[in-house]
Amino acid sequence: MLTMQEDLLADLRRENGVALMFVDGEFGPASDGAAREIVNPANGEVIARVAEGTIADADRAIAAAHAAFYKGPWGDSLAQDRAKLLNALAATIDEHAGELSQLETLNNGKPLRETEYDMADAANCFRYYAGLATKPHGQTFEVPAASQSFTVREPIGVCGQIIPWNYPLLMAAWKLAPALAAGNACILKPSELTPLTALRLATLIVDVGFPKGVVNILTGAGPVVGHALAASALVDKIAFTGGTKTGRSIMQAATGNLKKISLELGGKSPNVVFADADFDTAIDYALFGIYANSGQVCSAGSRLLVQDSLHDRFVKRLVERANKIVVGDGFDPKTEMGPLVSRAHQEKVESYIKTGIAEGAKLECGGTRLEGDLGKRGNFIVPTIFSHTTPKMRIVQEEIFGPVLVVQTFADEAEAIALANDTIYGLAGAVFTNDIAKAHRVIRKMRAGITWINTYHPTYNEAPWGGYKQSGIGRELGTYGYDAYTEVKQINVNLAVEPSGWFADR
Ligand code: NAD
Repeated sequence: MLTMQEDLLADLRRENGVALMFVDGEFGPASDGAAREIVNPANGEVIARVAEGTIADADRAIAAAHAAFYKGPWGDSLAQDRAKLLNALAATIDEHAGELSQLETLNNGKPLRETEYDMADAANCFRYYAGLATKPHGQTFEVPAASQSFTVREPIGVCGQIIPWNYPLLMAAWKLAPALAAGNACILKPSELTPLTALRLATLIVDVGFPKGVVNILTGAGPVVGHALAASALVDKIAFTGGTKTGRSIMQAATGNLKKISLELGGKSPNVVFADADFDTAIDYALFGIYANSGQVCSAGSRLLVQDSLHDRFVKRLVERANKIVVGDGFDPKTEMGPLVSRAHQEKVESYIKTGIAEGAKLECGGTRLEGDLGKRGNFIVPTIFSHTTPKMRIVQEEIFGPVLVVQTFADEAEAIALANDTIYGLAGAVFTNDIAKAHRVIRKMRAGITWINTYHPTYNEAPWGGYKQSGIGRELGTYGYDAYTEVKQINVNLAVEPSGWFADR
């Protein structure tokens, strides 16, 4: 294991055993030399030490991005040149996908089959935005004057980008690809728990030849370097993916210079199953909706709403299937579900399980750590299902972000919709039924930004991603994601060049 680990870390730039952050085209330590230990969630072992950025490091990264955009050639770069760089980055991610997915599994814990998927998706995200960079973006307007009026989209400038630990490289791609395609300079701050693939990406960014300062990878604590990005008057836009509470504090910090802001936050998404649904398909996606990535997915189908006439049969089968999910080390090819990202997060999920029991919900299965040696060392929680819940329970209302499914029941369509919308969140939701008109009626009433009919979770680089209500502000991915990294400029060209005569020439 140690050899494989060393192999995976070999391509990170390190000094005295510390993986270095990437600022202004150079790899370097933190200004005070501090480093943070990075832990393998599957066994609690320290796998790396990473430079722990300071405010001075954040300021340096911001200055580098600022110079690259406002003084360097990047601000005037051509879309076709940016597209070439992004295509080259996509190609090199594909080329290194095996190594990157192993590094991701080592750091985040999720099974290799998931990280392999994530790496392909990340490469495709860079490729998609490489294509979009050179496509038409403005509009022209017929105005009541002899004027040619049109808009162009221009980069916003310096973008701070703060991402979570649940899809480390994929979230980096979602942030960097559209921002760079549009011509911005970026400071990406990965989660302090999972910085390794972002630091490896920095080496690939050097290889493909991005100019210095255009991409900076700033490692360190959220309240320190993340806050510095959100508060800086030199940062023109802040884009954040993470918890709703953190999103709120970032929004407050961003008010100083009224920077542009995008927030992708938490969820408690409803997965609605009607009695007329295809039973096996609905069971399959109910499992996938909550247990993919151990439930550490913002859009997880964490509330299962089952029509009352189907409830008992559905929950019985679901429990049988959940109990068969193979939980283990992400490197074991048999593993279907990995550990939670950290011991602290495992304890948070356990405290929700205790809350659910105390609130009087029925624990149908799970609720415990994995047994045996692996379970003692890693942060595993086995698939857990609560039934007999009531809408106001904390386990129904609050995001648990773990492998804990809460089941609710409804009598009819109206009640399904009311329950589906009964949280502060509005990120995602699904409906399973063979009545297509009913499916559309329910989706129309669902207050959520991402919805599915007879499936759960498919996410496409081409389609917009984001939430209603307290699940966020703005959209990522697709053309919407590109637009979110641009300013719109109106240009009016006078086609009759002569004095207007508004003020008489006396
Ligand atoms: P988190 O909010 O704790 O951290 C996210 C990032 O914010 C990390 O990089 C962290 O260092 C940084 N951060 C923390 N405090 C900060 C501060 N005061 N100022 C600036 N930055 C700060 O979230 P997490 O625990 O890493 O991730 C889990 C959360 O992310 C869940 O709530 C989940 O729903 C959400 N999420 C949302 C989406 C989406 O697209 N909507 C996707 C993935 C995860």
